[in-house]
Amino acid sequence: MTERETRDAPPHRVGLWHVGVVVSTNTETPTGRSIVLDVPGWGGNLAGQHADVRLTAPDGYQAVRSYSIASAGDGDRVELAVDRFPTGEVSPYLVDELQPGDELELRGPLGGWFVWRPSQTESVQLIGGGSGIVPLMAMIRSHTASGSTAPFRLLYSVRTPDDAFFRSELDTPNPHLDVTWLYTRRTPDGWPRPASRIALADIEASAFAASLAPAVFVCGPTGFVETVANDLVALGHDPQRVKTERFGGA
Ligand SMILES: Cc1cc2nc3c(=O)[nH]c(=O)nc-3n(C[C@H](O)[C@H](O)[C@H](O)COP(=O)(O)OP(=O)(O)OC[C@H]3O[C@@H](n4cnc5c(N)ncnc54)[C@H](O)[C@@H]3O)c2cc1C
Repeated sequence: MTERETRDAPPHRVGLWHVGVVVSTNTETPTGRSIVLDVPGWGGNLAGQHADVRLTAPDGYQAVRSYSIASAGDGDRVELAVDRFPTGEVSPYLVDELQPGDELELRGPLGGWFVWRPSQTESVQLIGGGSGIVPLMAMIRSHTASGSTAPFRLLYSVRTPDDAFFRSELDTPNPHLDVTWLYTRRTPDGWPRPASRIALADIEASAFAASLAPAVFVCGPTGFVETVANDLVALGHDPQRVKTERFGGA
C-alpha cells in the first residue's frame, strides 16, 4: 500500500464487533432489501469493502456472514443490501425480520483488494450480477461524491426488471456513469436484447476495451464471476487488472 493510499483510508477499528442500530430499510427487489445502520465507532470504509455480520440466537448460537457495504466514506453510517436465500440461515432474517431500531453486530471494514479509491484516475469497468451490485454501488457513489472524472461504466445483469437493486439511483442520469442493463429471464417490453445470461459479446459490446487498460471489478454469484473473468481475459484484459468478488451460490 502506498503512502497516498494509506492517507485515503479512513480510520477504522477492524477487529472489533460494533453494535449497529437499524435506521431504515428499503425494499429493493421481491427478494432483497437495503438496510441503513448507525454504527458508533465504525469510522468509515473504502468503496468495495465488506463487513461481517453476526447474529446471536437467544440460546447463544451465533452465525456470521459477510456483506458488502453499499456506502463509502467517513462516518458511522453503513448501508448493506441483502438478497434472501430461501433456505439460508442469516439472509431471511435480514431481509424479512430486521426492523428499524433493532441492533445488529458488525465487524469491519474488511478487505483491501476489491476497492476503488478516488485517487485512481484510470477508466473503471464495473460488472455486477444480482446483489453483486452492492460493492460496485459503493464505488459509483464514491466516484460521484468525490467529483472524480475517471470514466465509469457499469454492466449490470439481473433476472428481470424487478430484480434490480438501487434501480432509481442507477436510472438517474449521471454524466460520469454509463449503465448497461442485461436481463437473464425477462426483459422490459420492446427490449432489443433477448433475455439470456451475460456472454462475451455483451462485454465486447458495452465494456471498456482492453486497449484502454481499465480497472475492472466483477462481483456476483460464483458462476457469473467465473464466466465474466474468463471472457475478460479472452478479450485481452490483463488478469492483474481484473478484480473479482464472489458471493457463493450458483
Ligand atoms: C465478501 C462477501 C460479500 C458478500 N456480500 C453480500 C451482499 O452484499 N449481499 C448479499 O445478499 N450477499 C452477500 N454475500 C453472501 C452472504 O455472505 C451469504 O452467503 C448469503 O446472504 C447467504 O447466507 P445465508 O445465511 O442466508 O445462507 P446459508 O445458510 O449460508 O446458505 C447459503 C448457501 O447455501 C446454498 N443455498 C441455500 N439456499 C440456496 C438457494 N436458494 N439457491 C442457491 N443456493 C442456495 C448456497 O450454497 C449458499 O451459498 C457476500 C459474501 C461474501 C463472501
